[in-house]
Amino acid sequence: HIGSQEVDRKVDSVCPFCGVGCLLTYNVKDEVIVSVDGRDGPANHDRLCVKGRFGFDYAHHPQRLTKPLIRKAGVPKDADAIGDPADWSSVFREATWEEALELAGGKLRQLRDTHGHKTLAGFGSAKGSNEEAYLFQKLVRTGFGSNNVDHCTRLCHASSVAALLEGVGSGAVSNQVGDVENAGLILVIGSNPTANHPVAATWMKNAAKRGTKIVLADPRVTDIGRYAWRTLQFRPDTDVALLNAMIHTVIDEGLVDADFLTRRASNYEALKANVQGYSAEAMAPICGIPAETIREVAREFATSKGSMILWGMGVSQHVHGTDNARCLIALVSVTGQIGKPGSGLHPLRGQNNVQGASDAGLIPMMLPNYQRVDDPGVHAWFENFWETPLDDKPGYTVVEIMHKALAPDSDPHKIRGMYIMGENPAMSDPDLNHARHALASLDHLVVQDIFMTETAWYADVVLPASAWPEKTGTVTNTDRMIQMGRRALNPPGDAKPDLWIIQQIAARMGLPWNYQGPECGVAEVYEEMRQAMSAVIEGVTWERIEREQSVTYPCLSEDDPGQPTVFIDAFATNDGRVKLVPADIIPADERPDTEYPFVLITGRQLEHWHTGSMTRRASVLDAIEPIATASMNGGDLRKLGLDAGDVITVKSRRGEVALTVRRDDGTPTGAVFIPFAYYEAAANLLTNAALDPFGKIPEFKYCAVDVRPGGTP
Ligand code: SF4
Repeated sequence: HIGSQEVDRKVDSVCPFCGVGCLLTYNVKDEVIVSVDGRDGPANHDRLCVKGRFGFDYAHHPQRLTKPLIRKAGVPKDADAIGDPADWSSVFREATWEEALELAGGKLRQLRDTHGHKTLAGFGSAKGSNEEAYLFQKLVRTGFGSNNVDHCTRLCHASSVAALLEGVGSGAVSNQVGDVENAGLILVIGSNPTANHPVAATWMKNAAKRGTKIVLADPRVTDIGRYAWRTLQFRPDTDVALLNAMIHTVIDEGLVDADFLTRRASNYEALKANVQGYSAEAMAPICGIPAETIREVAREFATSKGSMILWGMGVSQHVHGTDNARCLIALVSVTGQIGKPGSGLHPLRGQNNVQGASDAGLIPMMLPNYQRVDDPGVHAWFENFWETPLDDKPGYTVVEIMHKALAPDSDPHKIRGMYIMGENPAMSDPDLNHARHALASLDHLVVQDIFMTETAWYADVVLPASAWPEKTGTVTNTDRMIQMGRRALNPPGDAKPDLWIIQQIAARMGLPWNYQGPECGVAEVYEEMRQAMSAVIEGVTWERIEREQSVTYPCLSEDDPGQPTVFIDAFATNDGRVKLVPADIIPADERPDTEYPFVLITGRQLEHWHTGSMTRRASVLDAIEPIATASMNGGDLRKLGLDAGDVITVKSRRGEVALTVRRDDGTPTGAVFIPFAYYEAAANLLTNAALDPFGKIPEFKYCAVDVRPGGTP
């Protein structure tokens, strides 16, 4: 260990992993990050979790891509193309930047000009900066000529955002995580914050120690349950039943906030009529929670000094994910638990910049700041702002793009070429055999990344990009705080900043961009984005972020401190009222049966991040969690004649994986939990691509599988 006093330089930045947005300092010696310290940021106050503190040496990993690569002539693409990331030489050859960019951009341009604007698509990244996200979506919209641009928000909170935009008029959180200290009750639903938002979880635990009541509602009982006042381990897929029963109880027991509903809500009578059939007594056998417990929790939620809901993928990743979130909006509304400190709605955003990338317009139906592409006024404003004609039809989403890549040649919307920056759909998409087949079928695929990811094996051109500590840019955390990451290192070899690469591709698509200034013109790009999003970040100048480290939006002038709590007087909807939307039970797309009797739940774990491309190359994290595991409870292990540490094979209708099983009695009976970070046992080989109809998010949290002892991991 090299003490922080002995380093060559210290560079202030922000953690590249989760949406909590912990501020940190990189300690650099001899051009190597040797340690990381937490800083006193508003989201972390010096704290870091194991990923932020120890997960930094991926940037120095020998498998970093350092040269542009071009697929060798005659090497076919097939769905099983994934090889050893340390040895790509049988498939790719090194190239100069000029040659690689000419091929990458030139072929995209040729496909567009030959087959039309709908033939290309781009996946940007929630791991990059706001400026990269903004420029990437601008490239797709103005250069590719369509709205076929998306990113991993589609796989995480798209359904939450759909419900929030519909209900409260804004897709971001109403209250910040730190506000839990003002809450009387915290409802944590469909979230494992200790693993996925670890520093945020510490604020929840601190609040619990001071008397705040935590209610954990989740089919899996996770670590935060140790601090819970009540734990509602409801049956997987019964969220709407449970939440409607809570709303019914609030109405039935006369606990509604009538004044709030009169002044600030619409459609209450329809909601009230809809929950008539959802009494706690009727729903108890469905969700597996005693009626009296449902009523007790609903009462406490309604009457506490402030009740706040924090939720994660357990709510959103269902075919009824939007309905789940609608129920959460309805619950805070009937109880008046929104628009004041210690209350409200907080969808815990996963990636470090999934909030910012979504805000910047990296989604197919929205321009920056969630302005719909098919709104004539918005469309005209952006055509004028970008001085180019724009498509006014929403583009395809992540999973839809994969389907369109496999469309027949006669389909004018068949996706033939893609540009993927910093995303790994060959690991993160549902039903991976289908997704990999789709990637392999593209005429032209450009992948921009720091490692030879699973997705890069399907590429025609691989462009070596920069890791987070190698570039400067802003990110927006789950709390709506815009914060700055600063360059601490130079990229290795010939690797380049992503912002530079996007601009080079744009030039080869014929776009006359000219961003000036240091760090590839990042401040100038930010300033353009600020103009496009002036309704929320007018007061957040580049200089201000540099000076203050963290600025919360909405922030409408340079002396506006930002608004940590929103909807105090009005919601962001057209009429200023929260719109209550009734929801009914919609079953999961694929239920267990005799052939596939278990439920598969996928998710993350503390030490590894998403598809593992960074954390599995971070030596400390990989040492702690080196192998793929599945979790099952002790009762199920006994029934199958298994011990912890045995190998099992988990099989669905779409694929199978073999991996080691561990005992976790928080996993419900009849279910198996698998993290999706492990390429050697990719959980998404098993998952179902069925979509929520509103958010278009796949049902990662529920599909039917069989579990058998044995197999070869
Ligand atoms: Fe990084 Fe999230 Fe951990 Fe903070 S809680 S150090 S942002 S991974």
